[in-house]
Amino acid sequence: EAATVSSPADSYGGIENLVIIGSGPAGYTAAIYAARANLKPVVFEGYQVGGVPGGQLMTTTEVENFPGFPDGITGPDLMDRIRRQAERWGAELFQEDVEFIDVQHNPFIIHSSERKVKCHSLIIATGATAKRLRLPREDEFWSRGISACAICDGASPLFKGQVLAVVGGGDTATEEALYLTKYARHVHLLVRRNQLQASKAMQDRVLNNPNITVHFNTEAVDVVSNSRDQMSGVLVKRVDTGEESVLELKGLFYGIGHTPNSHLLEGQIELDSSGYIIVKEGTAKTSVDGVFAAGDVQDHEWRQAITAAGSGCVAALSVERYLVANN
Ligand code: FAD
Repeated sequence: EAATVSSPADSYGGIENLVIIGSGPAGYTAAIYAARANLKPVVFEGYQVGGVPGGQLMTTTEVENFPGFPDGITGPDLMDRIRRQAERWGAELFQEDVEFIDVQHNPFIIHSSERKVKCHSLIIATGATAKRLRLPREDEFWSRGISACAICDGASPLFKGQVLAVVGGGDTATEEALYLTKYARHVHLLVRRNQLQASKAMQDRVLNNPNITVHFNTEAVDVVSNSRDQMSGVLVKRVDTGEESVLELKGLFYGIGHTPNSHLLEGQIELDSSGYIIVKEGTAKTSVDGVFAAGDVQDHEWRQAITAAGSGCVAALSVERYLVANN
């Protein structure tokens, strides 16, 4: 029988079967599966993304590619549904940030802003944060002209048939630029350095594509707009000469990478050079027995809601097996 987490801030209750950290599609899906398996999971939802639980999708409008919603669904609505499904099956949800994790010994130790918990198994589903440029008018146009995901937003009516720009010179940016040529009238690639960092094959594809113009030594300075509703262009600056000009376009995509939310585990489990949690291929297993990872915190490649949800399911089923084998 799992303990109930009613302990005050300075003491531990019993030992929980499973703690899940994160409230994106990965964390909540893991919670649904674990709760249905009667593990009574304790979920720390956090509020790092925009001050609310629900993860990255809380910052977007329409989600058009999550199966089961033929007419699309808003990000917050989708996350509210997944959350309620987890709650209905008995997951215990806490809107608190985890501030300390110790997985050196089992039971593992977790401290949130409000309480301390011990657990036999742990799922890390803390996601990743898209890096932003912090342009002066960025917040005003986020999700209304500025996006960090071409696959999510490229086909939206806001961008279809329009001139767009992608910021960045690595694999993410070049992939986004190529992807956007399917829908856009033309794509500008804004590269701060004087060369691309992407693989040679990607570089060739971008440089030889007549629908992409690569601007080297160029950075975005701010959004230009005459109305509050739509951007009309982007002010860009040559970093070598300081010369400024306006590129007329309707959408700006950031392809400058993501930061995985894994810093609490530094030095405790294996991370790659960018901070992504390393899982054994095809599994949710990390380098520490009993600690599993799901979603964007362990995935620098696909980064979709459905892949996050899928890996959350794998993590919860893995926990079930782990607990049976270790009891
Ligand atoms: P996240 O959604 O990143 O959630 C992680 C959660 O962990 C957050 O709730 C955070 O608060 C919590 N957390 C972090 N640290 C802590 C801590 N210390 N303690 C407690 N909690 C913590 N994908 C699609 O498939 N379709 C789309 O249309 C789409 N549109 C997108 C639009 C935007 C603007 C963005 C940014 C992303 C979009 N994505 C889309 C990508 C998708 O949102 C992500 O792939 C997905 O949310 C990843 O899920 P996750 O569960 O791994 O993590």
